[in-house]
Amino acid sequence: MPAPDAATTSPVVWSTPLRTRFRGLDVRDGVLLRGEAGWGELSPFWDYDDAESATWLRAAREAADLGWPAPVRDRVPVNVTVPAVGPERAREIVLGSGGCRTAKVKVAQRLPDGAVEPLDAEVARVGAVRDAFVELYGEGGARVRVDANGGWTVDEALARTPVLDAAAGGLEYVEQPCATVEELAEVRRRLTAAVPVAADESIRRAADPLRVVREEAADVVVLKVQPLGGVRACLELAEKVGLPVVVSSALESSVGLAAGVALAAALPDLPYACGLATSQLLERDVTASPLLPVDGALPVRRVDPDAASLAAAAPSDEVRDRWLARHDRLAALLAEDGR
Ligand SMILES: [Mg+2]
Repeated sequence: MPAPDAATTSPVVWSTPLRTRFRGLDVRDGVLLRGEAGWGELSPFWDYDDAESATWLRAAREAADLGWPAPVRDRVPVNVTVPAVGPERAREIVLGSGGCRTAKVKVAQRLPDGAVEPLDAEVARVGAVRDAFVELYGEGGARVRVDANGGWTVDEALARTPVLDAAAGGLEYVEQPCATVEELAEVRRRLTAAVPVAADESIRRAADPLRVVREEAADVVVLKVQPLGGVRACLELAEKVGLPVVVSSALESSVGLAAGVALAAALPDLPYACGLATSQLLERDVTASPLLPVDGALPVRRVDPDAASLAAAAPSDEVRDRWLARHDRLAALLAEDGR
């Protein structure tokens, strides 16, 4: 084997504008690491402290040094994500989604005055998504889920979910309707519509992700590879949780998305489309062959960055220095913990 080139084994920083503002962000950036097994991505959001972000480095190291468990499928169905946009834009997003037959529609958006978006705006968005799917695939040919990102109160979740369920012609599930595990459990107990509850933030940012199971707070769990420390850590957690899993991205480049695809490909059961079709949200990717859906699914493969794409996604000196320093701090933290 040829000696590794020192220039490609040191961490590489990338940065890109987002096409649509997402999670309050206009720019996404991160570090790529190369090891014996391939490339891994470290890209915790900047509002995460070092203690929390060190777990993300474990995921990058796994990808670079170990690689991933063998897949049991060669394609992963994915959903299109519809942000808090008007009905016309929602329809366009579904029509241009690369054949996705599942949509995740964002709800419970906070308006600038702090009030939650009115229900009729949510109904219009969900209804437009349903109509676009009916136009494409006929009645019952596609599925709609909503994601509140913990933004509703229990009362709002109980009042709105049945209305959105009707607008969708049957919701696949409601994701993280409220912020806490207790609230999720209460919504799940009291919902009048037969809509399953999915837990996302209650899993990946919780000290104890299994509380969701003990409190009977969810029917489905959303797992993300980087915040949970790698593909193997997610597979172990999935086994302990014992509920259906949806794999989602943390808005990574295609190198990071490939880890999510590897998890989805290795799960024994995959009953739901995954939230991994997010590379289109980035203005630039680190490869000329990004992970994009074809017929509503992503291929199961590794992704290597290429020099031209990395040059186009080169960060400012300030951003590069900030990431390299962050990487070194996180590596020191992992070494300290023996992780
Ligand atoms: Mg979510």
